[in-house]
Amino acid sequence: MDLTLSPQEQEFRDELREWLGANHPGEEPQGDEAAFEFRKEWQRKLADAGWAGISWPQEYGGRGATLIEQAIFNEEIARAKAPQVANVLGLVMGGPVVIAHGTDEQKQRYLKPILTAEEIWCQGFSEPESGSDLASLKTKAVKDNGEWVVTGQKVWTTFAHEAKWCMLVARTDFDVPKHKGLTYFLMDMEQEAVQVRPLRQITGESEFNELFIEEARIPDENVIGGEGNGWMVALTTLMHERAGLAFGLQVQLKIALGQLMELARAEGLDQDPVVRQKIAQLYIESEAIRLNASRGLTQIMKTGIPGPEGSLTKWMWSDTNQAMSELAMDIRGPEAPLIDSDWTYRFLRSRANSIEGGTTEILKNIVAERVLGLPRLR
Ligand SMILES: Cc1cc2nc3c(=O)[nH]c(=O)nc-3n(C[C@H](O)[C@H](O)[C@H](O)COP(=O)(O)OP(=O)(O)OC[C@H]3O[C@@H](n4cnc5c(N)ncnc54)[C@H](O)[C@@H]3O)c2cc1C
Repeated sequence: MDLTLSPQEQEFRDELREWLGANHPGEEPQGDEAAFEFRKEWQRKLADAGWAGISWPQEYGGRGATLIEQAIFNEEIARAKAPQVANVLGLVMGGPVVIAHGTDEQKQRYLKPILTAEEIWCQGFSEPESGSDLASLKTKAVKDNGEWVVTGQKVWTTFAHEAKWCMLVARTDFDVPKHKGLTYFLMDMEQEAVQVRPLRQITGESEFNELFIEEARIPDENVIGGEGNGWMVALTTLMHERAGLAFGLQVQLKIALGQLMELARAEGLDQDPVVRQKIAQLYIESEAIRLNASRGLTQIMKTGIPGPEGSLTKWMWSDTNQAMSELAMDIRGPEAPLIDSDWTYRFLRSRANSIEGGTTEILKNIVAERVLGLPRLR
């Protein structure tokens, strides 16, 4: 594992830093709708300057950046406190999946509008009875005259209320073992047969939704990776979800830790030995996350695909982020949950960290079985 930047990588970082310095759009506005429009505009600006989907091949509008450059990009974006992009699921998962498993026609059709945020994507995997055990999902798709007819229910579908396309996994064969009967579709969200109902979160926002699908139509050319291969395509999606984020997340942790230290000072607790020890522990953990992210990157460079190590980083990040916001609440004292502050929001939002993108228990199973090679229980 060599963590020194080459002259080209330094040049890449400096160019990006300069661009971010000159183009940072400022603070995100309040309110779900206004914030989403702001993120769309920001993504368009990134895309116009060639900074969206930077690891995608140049022929599809990306920059053909190496994985190290991608990691530098995530670090710099976090360091500059740049806003989120609107089409995060399209960029992190949808695009890479179409590039890996799509036909030439699909690549021509779908990739560019992902980059420019013209078409927002969502991920329709989880169902009321199928989250961790995704392969047990029941939404069914039946072939009818060159089209698929889909009926079922999805839940926790982030950005479904903004999305044009849904990465939908449905059961197309009930007579084979559960992992083998799945197919991966791109479903057009703009049809009557798809009803989106927002779910309100503990933070007051509505990032995610329930999807009710009643005989939605999907043309056969919107199957990704071939009929019956949905499990394999879904795994590619999930590996990209965990691998792409680690570098940005660890920088965000470090920035938040700096803010936590300021808070401790402001509350007169910066000399308190217990608070100091807890902050030191969080710092050590954020360093371990940074090094693990580099280890994961080394693995990708050797094998070409993200490995199970991404699960370890995601688990460590969610534990550390939750511990950090809990410490901030302790420092602010008993009235902290009542104060409408950035830390209250972070504390409430961080509760989802150990569930979204795979629960901590499932990640522990993956690390035990696939990283440490421990025996499987089942
Ligand atoms: C903020 C947020 C955004 C999300 N966005 C999306 C999205 O866009 N698209 C999408 O498809 N889904 C999304 N999800 C859903 C998420 O992927 C699921 O919530 C997650 O996979 C867990 O599934 P579940 O909620 O059904 O819990 P379950 O699978 O029912 O698990 C319940 C509990 O049992 C534990 N458990 C289950 N199986 C095992 C096992 N084998 N070993 C040990 N423990 C186990 C779990 O860890 C958990 O604690 C989102 C979730 C959140 C919180």
